[in-house]
Amino acid sequence: MILTCPACETRYNVADEAVSSAAGRQVRCANCGHVWHFAAALQETLPLEPRRVAGATAGIAPPLAVMGAAAGSAEADDADSLLDLGTASTPAVAPQHVRRSLVRLISLLLVFAVLLVLILARNAVVRVWPETAVVYSALGLATEGATAGLNLKVTPTRTGADFVVATEITNTADAARAVPRLRVALLDGSRNELDVKFVEPNVNQLAPGAVVRVRTVFVHPSITASEVEVTFAPE
Ligand SMILES: [Zn+2]
Repeated sequence: MILTCPACETRYNVADEAVSSAAGRQVRCANCGHVWHFAAALQETLPLEPRRVAGATAGIAPPLAVMGAAAGSAEADDADSLLDLGTASTPAVAPQHVRRSLVRLISLLLVFAVLLVLILARNAVVRVWPETAVVYSALGLATEGATAGLNLKVTPTRTGADFVVATEITNTADAARAVPRLRVALLDGSRNELDVKFVEPNVNQLAPGAVVRVRTVFVHPSITASEVEVTFAPE
């Protein structure tokens, strides 16, 4: 039988035997503590439930005997003893706010799942939709699709006191590519970085087959400088 707290409307699924007494009994709501007198015969006036009323009046199943035999955990034969709903039953229906926060949690997890896929599969996404490379690089996420097909040819030369690095960027892909800035590192013989320069190429886009040259000068570098390393730098 479903009992509804008249104060907070929490619903409880209670064993019929525990509250079938014609005289009814005191019931306490586990949610708000409200105590009220519940009598099945008074509440259920619908003709759908004549069995219980008929049984009680005909003496087939005396209410007190049923209480003692079936509702053992309620531990009281007194028809007016207090039935604590917190121990006698569980709420029949999850409160509305629990269901609502569950829905919110599930939609949050879905959003995270979609974001995770977009991040993990970003190279595939950029290949299909190259414009997204800008969004990824703005978020600090490097995509290999963004520079796929961009070849670097690096020619370092010492001219007097300076170290000049000529970099040639060629787009070997069959689609235009955005040209990211370059990270030019000056290394010694043990490949320790002595100096780093970030260079912005003076083109934004490189057409298929097009070439752009970038010149970087390290003025008066360390005497140990012997190599350079040029890479595309994430924004
Ligand atoms: Zn209540």
